[in-house]
Amino acid sequence: MTDAPDEVADLVPDDVPYSVPWRVATLVARVRETATAMTLELDVPGWRGAMAGQHVDVRLTAEDGYSAQRSYSLASPASMGAPGPASERVALTVQVVDDGEVSPYLTEDLQVGDLLELRGPIGNWFVWHPTDARPVQLVAGGSGLVPLMSMARTHVERGSSAPMRLLVSVRSPADALYADELDGLGPGVEVTRVWTRSGPPAWAGPVGRVSSELLAAACVPPDESPRVFVCGPTAFVEAVADALVDLGHDADLIRTERFGPTGT
Ligand SMILES: Cc1cc2nc3c(=O)[nH]c(=O)nc-3n(C[C@H](O)[C@H](O)[C@H](O)COP(=O)(O)OP(=O)(O)OC[C@H]3O[C@@H](n4cnc5c(N)ncnc54)[C@H](O)[C@@H]3O)c2cc1C
Repeated sequence: MTDAPDEVADLVPDDVPYSVPWRVATLVARVRETATAMTLELDVPGWRGAMAGQHVDVRLTAEDGYSAQRSYSLASPASMGAPGPASERVALTVQVVDDGEVSPYLTEDLQVGDLLELRGPIGNWFVWHPTDARPVQLVAGGSGLVPLMSMARTHVERGSSAPMRLLVSVRSPADALYADELDGLGPGVEVTRVWTRSGPPAWAGPVGRVSSELLAAACVPPDESPRVFVCGPTAFVEAVADALVDLGHDADLIRTERFGPTGT
């Protein structure tokens, strides 16, 4: 989507509305989620709200002018359509990528009071609207939980009546994002965890990757025509989406987001 002249539109990535400006955000809080993941709460003057599932671009510029840009999903619940005055606060959860350029800086070096550039919200495809009462299935791999957590938080905050299930694949309890909050989401959002390396103490269930059998057992059945959102590393997203189609889910109802490398 763009409202730019044609010759400029060619320079703009497809899913970045041309009119979305860069804004200067201030880090107001850092919340440690795990040893390798941090939630960054940012004040963004002029922020006009977002839908659950959207992301932002973050741009860091060094003193010598070198700049790097990456995408991060919004962890905060949808603010568009929320009652009350528009909030200018957004939350991102960043998982460190070993040897990464931007994620170690965001999680370890950026301090409260520091500034960064941010633009968004971006993406109108991977979004869930709390006014949609149809069943929803969320499937997260690793930090792919972030935009799905925004959907689950929106579901709770708006008192949605849509049946929602969340399947989270995570290496071990030490890597689990939002662990306590997921346990307390309440009956409106049914959470199932899959441990791929090791489970909690006394865990007697299976340990391993998400399988077709597990998807069949834990997900909203295909005959209920759930809207499905799958997010995580590319290989995870492709394997899960393929398995869901094989299980009878309508491919047109499955939306995916891949957390592959981005930016420059
Ligand atoms: C739409 C979108 C939303 C995203 N949302 C989030 C989010 O909410 N939280 C979050 O932590 N990340 C998110 N990401 C990933 C994020 O944009 C960066 O790719 C990630 O933080 C790594 O950046 P880096 O500069 O640290 O690593 P880089 O310097 O870009 O890469 C270092 C090395 O790691 C590899 N690599 C890069 N990214 C990844 C990755 N995601 N997984 C595995 N290996 C990788 C590279 O190929 C390279 O070998 C999102 C990506 C997209 C496209």
